[in-house]
Amino acid sequence: MSKILIIEDEVSIADLEKDYLELSGFEVETENEGDRGLERALSEKFDLFILDLMLPKTDGFEICKQIRAEKNTPIILVSAKKDDIDKIRGLGLGADDYITKPFSPSELVARVKAHMARYERLIGSSGKENEIIEIRDLKIDRTARRVYLGEEEKVFTTKEFDLLAFLMENPNKVYTKEELFREIWDMESIGDIATVTVHIKKIREKIEESTAKPQYIETIWGVGYRFKL
Ligand code: CA
Repeated sequence: MSKILIIEDEVSIADLEKDYLELSGFEVETENEGDRGLERALSEKFDLFILDLMLPKTDGFEICKQIRAEKNTPIILVSAKKDDIDKIRGLGLGADDYITKPFSPSELVARVKAHMARYERLIGSSGKENEIIEIRDLKIDRTARRVYLGEEEKVFTTKEFDLLAFLMENPNKVYTKEELFREIWDMESIGDIATVTVHIKKIREKIEESTAKPQYIETIWGVGYRFKL
């Protein structure tokens, strides 16, 4: 369930907003002090903030700036004075919307829903993070199937990538050539396990500074290989 934080010093307004939003299916928390509201906004996970501008001590301007410096969560600013809205917009606080008191609860709910939907689309499309494994200077992106050594991208074949990814996913574990062959080439002991040796050699040439003294993929003599953590 989407969770909203209302920061509003007028308790009756905060409660009214809370009631309507809860009726619309949102989980709602309220804070009546700016300081405490800001603290919670930064430390807890909310899906949207409704922020009154005029608050004692830490006001809405400051809270808005501080939230925006750390989070992309939608912020709806609530102002008591209609005339101020243009000025407030001009300040570039990073709020997503502005609403002036008095407003109808249904208007608030409609705006909350619109911003929530937009934000969910945003994180739904770009928020799906690529699966990255990073060990020292070596970084692989499992989603994009790319390998980077420091800033430099290295070109890997499919099997080289699969083999490196498997070893990096299971660092410090020793695997025999047979095990690696089964794991990556996916056929029970058919084929040549020398393929593994060849691929390890090619990977090392791409990622190791010295293939004679590998820092990433170690040879454990008489056993196999392991990715050194
Ligand atoms: Ca106020």
